[in-house]
Amino acid sequence: MERILILLKSHYHFVSLSDLEDFYYHGTDLRNACHITVDDGDISVYTHLFPIIKKYQIPISIYVSPLCVREGKNFWFQEISGYDFQKFFEYYSKIYDHSMQYEGKHQLYAVLKHLPIEELIKLIDSFRLSQGIKPKPRMGINLEQLLELKASGLVEIGAHTYNHPILANEDNSTVIYEISSCILELEEMIGEKVKWFAYPNGIPSLDFSKREMEILRESGVKLAFSTENKRFSKSDDPLSVPRTGISKGNIPFIFAKLFFGSRWDILKGLFNSNKESEFRKKMVSLQKSN
Ligand SMILES: [Zn+2]
Repeated sequence: MERILILLKSHYHFVSLSDLEDFYYHGTDLRNACHITVDDGDISVYTHLFPIIKKYQIPISIYVSPLCVREGKNFWFQEISGYDFQKFFEYYSKIYDHSMQYEGKHQLYAVLKHLPIEELIKLIDSFRLSQGIKPKPRMGINLEQLLELKASGLVEIGAHTYNHPILANEDNSTVIYEISSCILELEEMIGEKVKWFAYPNGIPSLDFSKREMEILRESGVKLAFSTENKRFSKSDDPLSVPRTGISKGNIPFIFAKLFFGSRWDILKGLFNSNKESEFRKKMVSLQKSN
């Protein structure tokens, strides 16, 4: 992580979310600017990233669930990490009466991301119990750590829903709960207005759309981050700010990703490596044809 941040520091000027807000809302100019965001509030933000950003004085923002912070709950994808995915897929297939052959982890994630969150959590719980697997211990930061991050003045806090649903799968009342109630609770926790949000999974039109953006606007959110891979610019909607993921891969890989920008996805498509999205699009079109 330190090497990645040094690489970024040599090419870009790190800015805060307030700078980014001014860029979108007040026409301020930003050149060669970069802002680091971290979703999910994993404990490594506190144990690994925090010492590095203090050393180099880098402003970042993190996106957390008040439920995970308060109760030590894990997001569903954290809970299933390390599971026997084929066994889990077969369990899913039996319950949902699908006759699909297991084709790998990407396919499992695609089918799970197609379920409303309540159903998904129930499915994981019943599989867990059937296998005699214990729930995982807390994987995220607690309130004390969150407040310490905030007090450093380097870390801004944004919301990331309560349960990490694919918002597009949910009915209106669940979306309002996952966005508006989540923001209100987080505001109480940190004693400050929450103006930032990151969409779970974050692919525009597949994971969220105008409905979610409207609810965010009504909740007073100024910037919401997607996972659309491109550079940010004045033409973006501030409630769908694109980002480049640097959580996977080594230095040359990340360098190539930053260099290619939005062309990276075209390259990825050529090598057909984005299997999960392929599966998910297939499932959406299956559902439409039913
Ligand atoms: Zn997330």
